[in-house]
Amino acid sequence: MISIHRIKLGYVNSYLIKENSNYILVDTGMLKSHKKIINFLRKLSIEPKNIKLIVITHGHIDHIGSVKEMKEITGAEVLMHETEANMVEKGNTPEAVLTNKLLKMIFPSIKREIAPFSVEIKVSNELSLSDYGFDAKIIHTPGHTDGSISLIFKQKHAFIGDIVMKFPLLSGKSYFPIVANEKEKIYESWKKLIDEGVEWLYPSHGKIFSIKEIEREMKKKKIVTRD
Ligand SMILES: [Zn+2]
Ligand SMILES: [Zn+2]
Repeated sequence: MISIHRIKLGYVNSYLIKENSNYILVDTGMLKSHKKIINFLRKLSIEPKNIKLIVITHGHIDHIGSVKEMKEITGAEVLMHETEANMVEKGNTPEAVLTNKLLKMIFPSIKREIAPFSVEIKVSNELSLSDYGFDAKIIHTPGHTDGSISLIFKQKHAFIGDIVMKFPLLSGKSYFPIVANEKEKIYESWKKLIDEGVEWLYPSHGKIFSIKEIEREMKKKKIVTRD
């Protein structure tokens, strides 16, 4: 049995997943979001030290803003894709490339420097989390950034970062992220999630929704991906 909590941190979500008595925290929101996360833990009487892993879906500033503080408070290990782990360890973040032509003209690239932090677990393609006591795995789902990953729990619940967006301001109605450094890989990553047999998507922006919604979207747009 697992239990899942969505922690709303302004326009971005963080998730807390419990399996047995241990927790995984997915993403940490923006700078200074740790206060909100700690309040959330306190309300539910969750011991910070029971958070064993902090999984970072990708290195954009609204997801890694409070890693340092959450790491100190919990003592948890941080997991990221190796490409972006190597960036944040040097204080860099991946580029945010806008997909909207007009916006792209206004903001050709958004890149932020951060206070570096170390990443203990670096994933390249896929990693089972059974050694950490969780019936879960990490898969590589690039497109939004090179090092975007998804966390899949019990082969059913996928925490997907920004690879699918259902958040009016950021994606319109198309589920397609407003930021993507490799547009063509977005649909390939959606297909990967579908092929994994996932049922529910937990995005970093907006509400939880059924994977059937993106299956329908791909059919509607007649999208065929390479295998
Ligand atoms: Zn992002
Ligand atoms: Zn984001």
